[in-house]
Amino acid sequence: LKGEAEGLTPTEREIEKALRPVSFEDFTGQDKVLENLRVFVQAARQRGEALDHVLLHGPPGLGKTTLSLIIANELGANIKMTSGPVLDKPSDLAGLLTNLSENDVLFIDEIHRLNPVVEEYLYSAMEDYKIDILLDSGPNARSVQIGLNPFTLVGATTRAGLLTSPLRARFSINARLEYYNAKLLTSIVLRSADLLNTPIDEEAAYEIARRSRGTPRIANNLLRRTRDFAQVKGNGKITVGIAEMALNALDVDQHGLDEMDNRILSTIIEKFKGGPVGLSTIATACGEEAETIEEVYEPFLIQEGYIKRTSRGREATEMAYRHLGINPPAGQVK
Ligand code: ADP
Repeated sequence: LKGEAEGLTPTEREIEKALRPVSFEDFTGQDKVLENLRVFVQAARQRGEALDHVLLHGPPGLGKTTLSLIIANELGANIKMTSGPVLDKPSDLAGLLTNLSENDVLFIDEIHRLNPVVEEYLYSAMEDYKIDILLDSGPNARSVQIGLNPFTLVGATTRAGLLTSPLRARFSINARLEYYNAKLLTSIVLRSADLLNTPIDEEAAYEIARRSRGTPRIANNLLRRTRDFAQVKGNGKITVGIAEMALNALDVDQHGLDEMDNRILSTIIEKFKGGPVGLSTIATACGEEAETIEEVYEPFLIQEGYIKRTSRGREATEMAYRHLGINPPAGQVK
């Protein structure tokens, strides 16, 4: 689903899979989260019990799916993967749950998009490892309760705020993934280049890293594109010159903002006098879904200090004006 959303070809999806770290050892960054998870996983393993349910949240591409696979791997358990929008009816979920072996992991991506009926069903499964199944319909309808094997639900979401409180309360381990700094991303790029058998200069890896919006998935994508440039326009090795050529050709600017980031900033500044302006108005003017702007673009632009969220809408900061080479209006922008 994610691959499709990004327009990846099957080969590219294979590559993404090949680049995935498979153990805690392999995973770079998110130290605090990893440190805790290692303890919880080891403790569950030693007791021979299922790990408590885990909620992973944060912007796309930071490693939520990867971590869920690692958790299962480190638990020595199987993992079944699905996503919120795919689970249409309770029976879809029941089918998955009843097929889990003891201490297995069920991964539900985009868990904030669960159908409310399915979600309610999940409550007793998470709490007591039990579900009610409806047999027959009409006057003969009756429900029977069946027991499940103990399991771990790992839920991932880009929007923790959209989770209902009963669902959130049932996750006893809650981890937020943060954007990666350029140093961490550099080691991720070097590791991926190594797995792809592509020679790369450290300086070039850093150039790709610092222009990847703090996101490993983007860093890996830019690495693949840069590899193409190295092959066609160079001698196969990714040098800093090749990296710059590729990144400019891909419309990634000096600060790592992509075309949509820049479009959002210039829309707020040029069409709405720097704001404040509402999210849906920005979305319409940029030709992008409001949800995508809120999940994918805005968190990074806010973290990096280009926009501010106020009660009246989004505002461009002085830094955004400077970024676009426009003089901020005196006295208006803080
Ligand atoms: P999410 O589920 O949060 O959208 P993924 O787990 O699918 O993100 O990660 C996207 C890609 O980024 C994966 O192919 C994985 O190889 C890479 N990746 C993510 N986090 C890391 C990390 N900490 N170290 C190395 N690669 C990573």
